[in-house]
Amino acid sequence: MSHGDTTPQDHPTDRDSMLVFGVPAVGEEEIAEVTATLRSGWLGTGPRVHRFETAFREYKGWGHAVGCNSCTAAMHMSLLVAGLQPGDEVITTPMTFCATVNAIIHTGATPVLADIDPVTLNIDPEHIQAHITPRTRAILPVHFAGHPCRMDAITAIARQHGLKIIEDCAHAIETEFRGQKAGTFGDFGCFSFYVNKNVTTGEGGMMLARDAEDAKRLRCLSLHGLSHDAWNRFGTSGYRHYQVVEAGFKYNMMDIQAAIGIHQLARVEKNWLRRKEIWHRYQEAFADLPVLTPADAPPECRHAYHLFPVRIDPARTDTPRDEILGQLTRHKIGTGVHYLSIPDHPFYQRHFGWSPDAWPVARDVGRHTISLPLYPAMRDEDVTDVIRAFRAIMTTR
Ligand SMILES: *Cc1c(COP(=O)(O)O)cnc(C)c1O
Repeated sequence: MSHGDTTPQDHPTDRDSMLVFGVPAVGEEEIAEVTATLRSGWLGTGPRVHRFETAFREYKGWGHAVGCNSCTAAMHMSLLVAGLQPGDEVITTPMTFCATVNAIIHTGATPVLADIDPVTLNIDPEHIQAHITPRTRAILPVHFAGHPCRMDAITAIARQHGLKIIEDCAHAIETEFRGQKAGTFGDFGCFSFYVNKNVTTGEGGMMLARDAEDAKRLRCLSLHGLSHDAWNRFGTSGYRHYQVVEAGFKYNMMDIQAAIGIHQLARVEKNWLRRKEIWHRYQEAFADLPVLTPADAPPECRHAYHLFPVRIDPARTDTPRDEILGQLTRHKIGTGVHYLSIPDHPFYQRHFGWSPDAWPVARDVGRHTISLPLYPAMRDEDVTDVIRAFRAIMTTR
């Protein structure tokens, strides 16, 4: 993605190349570590996964960390270890990536959607309360864009009704709610290291578990259900028989992924500061436009600044969202949509009979939102290009 060496431009459309929506910041340390891993002969789950798990656990200062191959797998296994059975209900948000809801479906449990707060775009604890039934077993909050959910209210509801909490922290590696880190509030925290997440391993995930026995079972499930004892990680003590103790999955992380993750995690705070800087530049530059910019975290909390979703205010502009997406593309600015609400997708409508109108806040956000590029590898000139293009589009009608 070289968009370097542009000649001075006075027209905002004249970038020489597309600014890709999300590009990971991969350093020489990652490249050297991957090379060393390849040369070591140990590519699969081994010493580097162990190092990465230890570093992640230290970063969070809580529980037990188990690496896996995606956040989707992390949520699937966490929900199973939480004890979910077919017929059980799990309350989650309609404003999330489909993986959150699919993971619930794959356990046989039933997802129940609770509408979001229009300002934070996070699941609204009052709506959670309203959806509790005798079959409710768990709450699966998503810290949307990196904004912390109201974990005080959510943990209170869980305690009152004896529910498990599984946090979807795909956007929330650096997120904190009142000084406590995301992923440490309930029983399980699930993290994504997909390419565009704040820490990446290409594909990858991490599970945090409060309970040591739960962590042991997660590890077992992630590798075919093989007994942990028989899983000889370092392969120096000769052949050992393994036993299958349950029907597990192939969800383990490999050392090539962990080699990237170790160095990504070491740079997470530095990258977070750069994200924060860009986030604030956008906030300032768009203050007078007919859009709603994302809310910052409340006092003593921390936003992960994973996404910058702007909401087109239909009361103040006639331009449809999709037309603005098209114009940004013509200005060579990559965009994303996070997200069309879950009930806006045909599968869920067909399978559950859901209509988007039952979750009006998520429906409206999903139909009017645009995510602008926000990542540490952006140069100051790239940020300026985004600001120029978006301002030009939003002020010329
Ligand atoms: C990216 C993402 C996931 C899925 O993560 P994978 O690691 O790709 O499985 C789940 N939930 C949310 C909110 C996400 O953004």
